[in-house]
Amino acid sequence: MANSLLHIDKHVSYIQSLDTRKDRLDYHLTSHLRLSGVYWGLTALHLLNHPTALPRDATIEFVKSCQHPNGGFGASPGHDAHILYTLSAIQILATVDALGSVSKTNVVSYVAGLQDKDTGCFAGDEWGEMDTRFIYCALSTLSLLGELKNPAIDVPKAISYILQCLNPDGGFGMAPSAESHAGQIFTCVGALVIAGVLKEEMSPDQIDLLGDWLCERQLPNGGLNGRPEKLEDVCYSWWVLSSLAMIEKLHWIDRDKLVEFILSCQDDEQGGIADRKGDMADVFHTVFGVAGLSLLGYEGLKEVDPVYCMPKEITESVLNGYKLV
Ligand SMILES: [Zn+2]
Repeated sequence: MANSLLHIDKHVSYIQSLDTRKDRLDYHLTSHLRLSGVYWGLTALHLLNHPTALPRDATIEFVKSCQHPNGGFGASPGHDAHILYTLSAIQILATVDALGSVSKTNVVSYVAGLQDKDTGCFAGDEWGEMDTRFIYCALSTLSLLGELKNPAIDVPKAISYILQCLNPDGGFGMAPSAESHAGQIFTCVGALVIAGVLKEEMSPDQIDLLGDWLCERQLPNGGLNGRPEKLEDVCYSWWVLSSLAMIEKLHWIDRDKLVEFILSCQDDEQGGIADRKGDMADVFHTVFGVAGLSLLGYEGLKEVDPVYCMPKEITESVLNGYKLV
């Protein structure tokens, strides 16, 4: 079989071009994803070793313009705040070393206000939808801000909610007794790692069972799906692999077949990576494809942090900075 390569330069130009396509319909159709789109593009560029390919000052200004008076961030200026975009904002600012440009107190009080005092779970926004994904967003945001020990947040209660979502098949769902799903597993395992309790709360047998469930996501074509009976999709190269990395079972997957699958989903002409071969590339699948390759040790890429989905050297430097204080 032909050995294809990662088109680093094409992916860099593809991501740079996203910002200049304001005349195109898809720009407007995706305005609800804008802040996360910047996070995906910026992270991909860092992992591709082109950290300065987006203008830093304009990036910081855009992030600040998305902050809502309640302290959270919306997808675009004037949009309602949501915890997903709040995490994207903090990830972007951490990546460009500009966390000091927003008020930490306001962000923390927004995040703290989303926690349900009875269950410990977090809502995504003021409308109250609860989901284990939002616990991850909250803990990741607070951790990047060095505020995990803030008394306004009940981390042990959030962790006890996550453990209620652990299923007998080894996976985690979005709520107690909800079906296991690879995306939810990433967020639940990530929350346990951020809180520093993974090995305390999961036995070696539970971790092995989870590892088995994750490895069963690999299909004969090398790609990974998000749950049984579903099609392969490049973004699961991230949700599944990062979970395997966090439980130290990354070597359980067939690396070469997965690398080949991700590379086959590239747009060989325009750059960008699609969910699967032949589909249209988008920045979401581009970053998760590149991040997956990084976890697999693909040559020429910066190392990604499986917990935060950011360049590891950046998360290490941010988190070490808090330890010194
Ligand atoms: Zn996908």
